[in-house]
Amino acid sequence: MGDFVEEREFYSDKPGEECGIFGVISANEPVAYLTYLGLFALQHRGQESAGIAVGDGRAMDTKRGMGLLTDVFRNGLPELKGDKAIGHVRYSTAGASIPVNTQPLMVSFSGGNLALAHNGNLTNVNALKRELADKGAFFHTSMDTEALVAVIISAEKQAIGEKIAESMKKVEGAFSLALLTDDKLVAVRDKFGFRPLCIGRLADGWAVASESCALDAAGAKFVRDVEPGEVVVFTRGGQRPESFFYDKGINKAAHCVFEYIYFARTDSIIDGRSVYLSRIAMGRELARENPDLKERVDAVFSVPDSGTTAAIGFGMESGVPFLEGLNKNRYVGRTFIQPTQQKRDVGVRMKLNPVRPLVEGKAIAIVDDSIVRGTTSGKILKLLRDAGARELHMLISSPPILYPCYYGIDTAVRKELISATHTGEEIRQYIGADSLRFVSLAGLRRALDAGASGTMCYACFNGEYPLWPQDQPGSRQAAESGEMCQCRGEGK
Ligand code: SF4
Repeated sequence: MGDFVEEREFYSDKPGEECGIFGVISANEPVAYLTYLGLFALQHRGQESAGIAVGDGRAMDTKRGMGLLTDVFRNGLPELKGDKAIGHVRYSTAGASIPVNTQPLMVSFSGGNLALAHNGNLTNVNALKRELADKGAFFHTSMDTEALVAVIISAEKQAIGEKIAESMKKVEGAFSLALLTDDKLVAVRDKFGFRPLCIGRLADGWAVASESCALDAAGAKFVRDVEPGEVVVFTRGGQRPESFFYDKGINKAAHCVFEYIYFARTDSIIDGRSVYLSRIAMGRELARENPDLKERVDAVFSVPDSGTTAAIGFGMESGVPFLEGLNKNRYVGRTFIQPTQQKRDVGVRMKLNPVRPLVEGKAIAIVDDSIVRGTTSGKILKLLRDAGARELHMLISSPPILYPCYYGIDTAVRKELISATHTGEEIRQYIGADSLRFVSLAGLRRALDAGASGTMCYACFNGEYPLWPQDQPGSRQAAESGEMCQCRGEGK
């Protein structure tokens, strides 16, 4: 008997992606198909499950399943031909990756039908569920998305925008939402704007998406981002949407900096910043902070693809040529391996192979976006060393990750974070580099435009959490002792 290695296991040293959401309302467009196209562009945000819900004003239909979008919709989209739809692609850790936890979640209540797709992680979900259970609510899944649905349908206001705005005041944490009612599409963003969400225009309708690349894929023109604390209600017919603020949180915005470092696609523009240009600027900062490398190395490589844009930026700033010294096999998918082989070892070799003439006898700077547990960098450097590299300098386009994330990103618990438990010199020795350099926090802030960096969350680097989870009293101490990470196992 053998075993299988999944493509995502090659990225076992990366923070887990979160989720992607998409929604559309239009009288004339094929809404389920546009949602499929939008989700296809968001597949990098979650590969565990996918789903689409469609409404036609009277009924709603949903189709959800485990796996990639192409697996779930192999035999077709939801049958209902509606005028509005939402969709979801999901990342989760293994424990929570079960069919009952797929989205969008759909319910019928006294006000009609409601479907909801959620990206983020609530920080008061236990308290919220206890309060709702006391009032008679039942929960069937381990997702905090179910608590969101329950709190919305129990709100007293009648108009859907006001109902959602009222209920969001009770919810804390990171959430970007796309909701369907029988006659509306609604977009919601938490008051810190942790997770991205933007609005696009169709010829006779509207679309909302986690990233602007999904609007492009569906043929929608980017209009603007949903503001922190905003509820936007779209009606069929394409008229201007209604906007409510459940909390005027604009001054408190804390957009996740990891969207720019690693998660988002480089062709997306999030909260006014190009992801591509942000990564170029991070690479330039690495070059400015390490001027000795300009004379010392023959070439700069990237760990493809996550380090590539920053490596190009390093090359532009330093004048060191950027070369594609690691070939990436793009057809790995789900691959059979012998039972005697270690998944991670064989995984790296199946995925990456050095281009020997670029490596032999050369001093090389190699750029990656982050180190979480430190499980992969050493294997990549060994590939290059075995191919004849003379010197290897590892450059990381983010600062050391020292603290876990409570807002929907699986960065591992603190005791698993190699930078929280080891010195830089210990990590350098462990991965077998001649030197190891991280971009500084100041350099990262500069790369993201110092004037606007006050609107960012950097908590996994500096421990300055914009919001502490309510659920566990004493959670700050628990986090600092390395025992807890809220998001692990939730993974939306
Ligand atoms: S803690 Fe880190 S990963 Fe989490 S939202 Fe803040 S910047 Fe993003």
